[in-house]
Amino acid sequence: MAQPGEQRRAIVSGASIAGLSTAFWLHRAGWHVTVLERAPQFRDGGQNVDVRGLAREVLQRMGLLDAVRAANTTETGTVVVNTDGTVRATLPSDGPEGATAELEVLRGDLAKIILDAVPEVELVYGDTVAEVRQHDDRVEVVTTAGRRLDAEFLVVAEGARSRTRDRVFPAATIHRRDLDITMAVGTIPRIDTDDQTWRWYNAVGGRSVHLRPDNHGTTRAILAYAPGEDLLGVDRREALARVRTRYADVGWQALRVLDAFEHADDLYFDQLTQIRVDQWHRGRVVLVGDAAWCVTLMGGGGASLALIGGYTLAAALTDDVNADPVSALATYERRMRPMADRVGRTPKALVRFAYPRTRAGLVARGIADRLVTGTILRTLVQRLHAGKEDDDAVTLPTMRSCP
Ligand SMILES: Cc1cc2nc3c(=O)[nH]c(=O)nc-3n(C[C@H](O)[C@H](O)[C@H](O)COP(=O)(O)OP(=O)(O)OC[C@H]3O[C@@H](n4cnc5c(N)ncnc54)[C@H](O)[C@@H]3O)c2cc1C
Repeated sequence: MAQPGEQRRAIVSGASIAGLSTAFWLHRAGWHVTVLERAPQFRDGGQNVDVRGLAREVLQRMGLLDAVRAANTTETGTVVVNTDGTVRATLPSDGPEGATAELEVLRGDLAKIILDAVPEVELVYGDTVAEVRQHDDRVEVVTTAGRRLDAEFLVVAEGARSRTRDRVFPAATIHRRDLDITMAVGTIPRIDTDDQTWRWYNAVGGRSVHLRPDNHGTTRAILAYAPGEDLLGVDRREALARVRTRYADVGWQALRVLDAFEHADDLYFDQLTQIRVDQWHRGRVVLVGDAAWCVTLMGGGGASLALIGGYTLAAALTDDVNADPVSALATYERRMRPMADRVGRTPKALVRFAYPRTRAGLVARGIADRLVTGTILRTLVQRLHAGKEDDDAVTLPTMRSCP
């Protein structure tokens, strides 16, 4: 515990949305923050995420709202297309809470905007937590590069596959739900026929192709299919070959995407897994973001929750200097858990609707797209963008801004 007049210290592991926003707020409250990031440099990349509801309020309090607005992906709406590219159903953007959000931004751009706002925070790339020793008054971290760090708290913001979480928290308290959806995600060159909409194409076998515009003159592509297969740890060439075989007869722009993925430098594969952890804190170690509550793309709103989580955690830690750490962390969890739980579990029916497996399912989906553009499809697309929106009942805690 810091003595009166001494600067309080925190270690944050993971430099994406949750870790950087926690670092931002702790730094603003006068803490010394060391951020450890496993990657050798800033991790750019990722597709459109959007910021809604309370997360927009957090960005406003950070003073970053205009910067995020200026980095808008330029996407204007969502359309479902047929094999020949003609539009089967349209979901136009309709305001900040519509299917396409006013604050839609690439994940990498959002992370970079927050990063640029915390130049004084100590950022260590290419290093990770190797050992955690908990003491009554502090937590000690030894890193793989041999650093020894002491702090009041270790904040674990390492995403859904967090190793530090798995090391510190009992395995029985970490619940993983594999949604059985595989995604190949990457940036491809833009061509003349690419427009400003998110174009979504479904083929039988639960296979889909997504093309989305960005603000960098390129196109963001996803090949997503269910049932999926675990490609994590599979050599990139082999993984891509497997996806190519699966997509051989899909049609529309699948082959263009596959060819471009051969050269994409940000190509990655994901097997969507929701995470729920019974308790987010253990001693002086605390989880935030996907490490604690990964909702996945199908749950929607992961970036917004990460922004709110970083703020809520920092607010609880700085609330009362004399509060014991366990009660500060319990306060964070009590405030934050209802927001993460609201996004909740993704119903199996929603997965089946998004990824129809049979021709009958595809036909049913085609009818549904035409008939219920305003309901099911809208709900689904909103979830993929942001999760539920009824933030009215929840308010942000206040933040002490001085040490
Ligand atoms: C490169 C990338 C691309 C993404 N693309 C999308 C997307 O297209 N759409 C979408 O909805 N979501 C995407 N996400 C996930 C999205 O960022 C999160 O769902 C959400 O923003 C919550 O973020 P988070 O900070 O909790 O976790 P994440 O964004 O997953 O970040 C975790 C961070 O911790 C780092 N890390 C992991 N393990 C360790 C370790 N042991 N020690 C130190 N650092 C570690 C990772 O390198 C990463 O920087 C992406 C994430 C990443 C990292």
